[in-house]
Amino acid sequence: MKTVAVGVFALTLLAGAVIIGTVAISFVSPLYAPAYLAVAALLSGAVIAVFCTKCPMRGEGCIHFFPGRVAALLPARRGKYTAVEIAAVSVALLLIAAVPQYWLLSQIQLFALFWVLAGTGIFLILRRVCPGCDNACCPLRPKE
Ligand code: SF4
Repeated sequence: MKTVAVGVFALTLLAGAVIIGTVAISFVSPLYAPAYLAVAALLSGAVIAVFCTKCPMRGEGCIHFFPGRVAALLPARRGKYTAVEIAAVSVALLLIAAVPQYWLLSQIQLFALFWVLAGTGIFLILRRVCPGCDNACCPLRPKE
């Protein structure tokens, strides 16, 4: 599979995990489900604004296709990522994953599905996407 296809597939798996989290929340607390989805979308947008706008592959070079295209609509930024930017992106991604765990823990099949999707997506990104990425400043980039 080509790297972009893997990147898109991995992002689709992660989006699928967010959908599963939303479904789990909706079964117990229906009002919180759209709130979580909106927060996850906002946090994903924040990650694109903070991280992808500094990536040299934003635009048509993006291995995940979609985030780079969105980042290309925003003003480009240059330079290495600061500790604050890395911390903000990490917190945003952790929040997206952590928030639905409260509801998933009482629904073991959805819990398992969430982590199969998220785990496979993360595995594919680390093993197949990161090695082919030219974002030299990315902290996930394998050391040469
Ligand atoms: S390749 Fe660059 S633009 Fe695409 S998702 Fe990764 S950091 Fe963002």
